[in-house]
Amino acid sequence: MCVFCKIVSGEAAARIVFQDEDVLAFHDVNPQAPTHVLVIPRRHVVSLADTEDGDTELLGKLMQCARRVAEMLDLVKSGYRVVINNGAGAGQSVFHLHVHVIGGRRMRWPPG
Ligand code: AMP
Repeated sequence: MCVFCKIVSGEAAARIVFQDEDVLAFHDVNPQAPTHVLVIPRRHVVSLADTEDGDTELLGKLMQCARRVAEMLDLVKSGYRVVINNGAGAGQSVFHLHVHVIGGRRMRWPPG
């Protein structure tokens, strides 16, 4: 079972920010900014590239959860970044789809 599935099942600990029947949001264990939260589907999906046309609702829920997390953690006024790393070449290291919500510091562009 992948590490994020273990968080979903409760087998692994996480600092959960929000959860409902489809998605889960928790603090990243190795934060890249003062606030760094991951939003994941409860269902195991490897990556964005592994989603299908029928996953529109799930993808929408991930984005709605990212927005909600940003509101809950007071990132809206200062701005925040939403990132999906797709594939090892783009920096994906956990192969369970996740959306990074990063904020609390000035962001640079382009990302490294
Ligand atoms: P990515 O590199 O886009 O696949 O992002 C994976 C993220 O998961 C990294 O930022 C890791 O710090 C984070 N991570 C890995 N294991 C855990 C864990 N058990 N709890 C919280 N975050 C984790």
